[in-house]
Amino acid sequence: DKFREGLTKTRDNFTTKMNDLIANYRTVDEEFFEELEEILFQADVGFDTVMKLVEELKMEVKRQNIKDTKDIRSVISQKLVEIYQGDEKFNNDITLQEEGLTVILFVGVNGVGKTTTIGKLAHSYKQDNKKVMLAAGDTFRAGAIEQLEVWGDRVGVDVIKHAEGSDPAAVMFDAVQSAKARKADILICDTAGRLQNKVNLMKELEKVKKVIEREIPGAPHEVLLALDATTGQNAMTQAKIFKEATNVTGIVLTKLDGTAKGGIVLAIKQELGIPVKLVGLGEKMDDLQPFDAEKYVYGLFA
Ligand code: GDP
Repeated sequence: DKFREGLTKTRDNFTTKMNDLIANYRTVDEEFFEELEEILFQADVGFDTVMKLVEELKMEVKRQNIKDTKDIRSVISQKLVEIYQGDEKFNNDITLQEEGLTVILFVGVNGVGKTTTIGKLAHSYKQDNKKVMLAAGDTFRAGAIEQLEVWGDRVGVDVIKHAEGSDPAAVMFDAVQSAKARKADILICDTAGRLQNKVNLMKELEKVKKVIEREIPGAPHEVLLALDATTGQNAMTQAKIFKEATNVTGIVLTKLDGTAKGGIVLAIKQELGIPVKLVGLGEKMDDLQPFDAEKYVYGLFA
């Protein structure tokens, strides 16, 4: 199971520490909870989530009269899933239009795995017999267009591009026209990932979105923010900036296979209120998976 495999580092980390914790503290007491908090913090689970979890665990321990630490394991998983899911109804899936073109806009800083994710996602839709096209909207970074083309060739989908340094909004206009003319089902758009100047970032994303929206009312249907799971708090800071710059509809957490601190998935949702829709679990074409909180949490603790 890909999902399980990709989480090996995080799982080993969690399982070892949880096993030690349960072996060391046989009875559920204040010290046990403190140690548990520490383990969760170290896995980047996030302050709010940890506090909420421990508070609810304490209530549940009282309610069920749990004394033995080994009996608390399943309660932890159950509560973490509940906390992740929350009260609000989030759309955790990527919404595809029933008819006509679906436009997915990708945002995120350079190096987080945005291009790779676009390639993987294109591949996955192609496997579902969808007609997919890519738009090379990062006209700023040298090599970005070529890199997207490499993925386009690999996956077997067309890439709409202009010259390096050209106006990304013009690329998007072209891409949407072409996608409509060729009756594509899905257009996945890359964008430049400069964070140095928030005002410029905002302006560029606004302009790009406006062009797309003018051509297809209601589009872009998804704005996915790619974040690198291995960068911890840095990823969180990026997310806050992008959240201010544009209306992010979902997170793609890349390189989750490369970290033992996979708890960041939980922190992101709790701190930003944006669902993690996809996770990257490797560098290969089929290493992209929809995020399933239950599978994830139970995979770690069970
Ligand atoms: P971009 O600058 O955001 O477009 O980043 P790239 O797509 O070029 O990816 C940067 C590096 O991260 C490349 O070496 C990718 O192979 C690698 N990468 C991307 N996603 C994943 C992932 O989910 N897991 C691992 N292990 N590596 C990844």
